[in-house]
Amino acid sequence: TTPKGDKEKGVNVQVILRCRPLSDEETKSNTPVVISCNERRREVAATQVIANKQIDRTFAFDKVFGPSSKQKDLFEQSISPIVHEVLEGYNCTIFAYGQTGTGKTYTMEGGGTRKAKSGELPTDAGVIPRSVRQIFDILEAQCAEYSMKVTFLELYNEEITDLLAPEEPRFPVLPVSEDKSKKPIALMEDGKGGVFVRGLEEEVVYSAGEIYKILDKGSAKRRTAETLLNKQSSRSHSIFSITIHIKELTHESEEMIKIGKLNLVDLAGSENISRSGARDGRAREAGEINKSLLTLGRVINALVEHSGHVPYRDSKLTRLLRDSLGGKTKTCIIATISPSVYCLEETLSTLDYAHRAK
Ligand code: ADP
Ligand code: MG
Repeated sequence: TTPKGDKEKGVNVQVILRCRPLSDEETKSNTPVVISCNERRREVAATQVIANKQIDRTFAFDKVFGPSSKQKDLFEQSISPIVHEVLEGYNCTIFAYGQTGTGKTYTMEGGGTRKAKSGELPTDAGVIPRSVRQIFDILEAQCAEYSMKVTFLELYNEEITDLLAPEEPRFPVLPVSEDKSKKPIALMEDGKGGVFVRGLEEEVVYSAGEIYKILDKGSAKRRTAETLLNKQSSRSHSIFSITIHIKELTHESEEMIKIGKLNLVDLAGSENISRSGARDGRAREAGEINKSLLTLGRVINALVEHSGHVPYRDSKLTRLLRDSLGGKTKTCIIATISPSVYCLEETLSTLDYAHRAK
């Protein structure tokens, strides 16, 4: 089978599935595994027992990474080609989608290791540091004249927060209404069908090594809310965007600036409210999160199926990413799942969502 999002059709949506390994705790407590990954056949099978009958459901993807897959392999096989497109001047987006605790942040940012010997990336470095490193490596090898800047924002309750905004001084204490570090910033229409975020901090990056400083600064600011399901449950979407300007000479020796953009999106946990036990005040949050996730699914479906109307306007997430979804862009969804029997219900809904996105 050929992936639907191939170039001939003008739409390029790739869906990758990654299953994390059991954690040490899960292994110790003999947690049953209900997921099997066939990387060669690019298939994932989920085993469900209903009324004493075993039911196996199989899902196909563009690429499958099993529990022992390495960060390096996922990057080289699936992300590196997208980075090359960005350097050709395209806008591309990579999403991590899945239940909380299945490895979205691990895949995008990496494990906890921030340092490695001799300027090498740590082995657990994720997609963001590897992309930045590759961009610098390629441009340096080409002796290109270029600049790179990044933005890092969070979308929470349909409100944008700048994760790179400088910290406000603690004293004098400002009244809440004047506390700029908490003030949501505005999404503006640019009058050409696109949007921009007013007042968003842009950080110029001069070397790949700086990226962890920026990631740490942003991650520390990310809001997390405690739920019954997972203390670290993240209810916000984060968007890390890299914009590269490359100076080029045309055949007529005219200077031309090529601009490429890469969006790296760590989506909010896809679990539903009933499952996580969130109520009352949290219900609204969950509703808004689902709105962005549902709209994202609809937008991608509309793009893949070439339906006339693409509902970008229905959520802030899709409005923000409009210039990087559809048209001459590449989109990659990394769906993350757990192998545990206790996550099966959520895993099946992730497999369904990711499968439909194709
Ligand atoms: P999420 O961002 O989806 O909530 P995390 O990225 O925080 O999930 O992952 C949850 C835990 O599982 C973390 O301790 C992380 O290091 C670990 N983990 C996730 N994916 C993998 C993987 N592929 N290999 C090893 N550990 C992983
Ligand atoms: Mg996370």
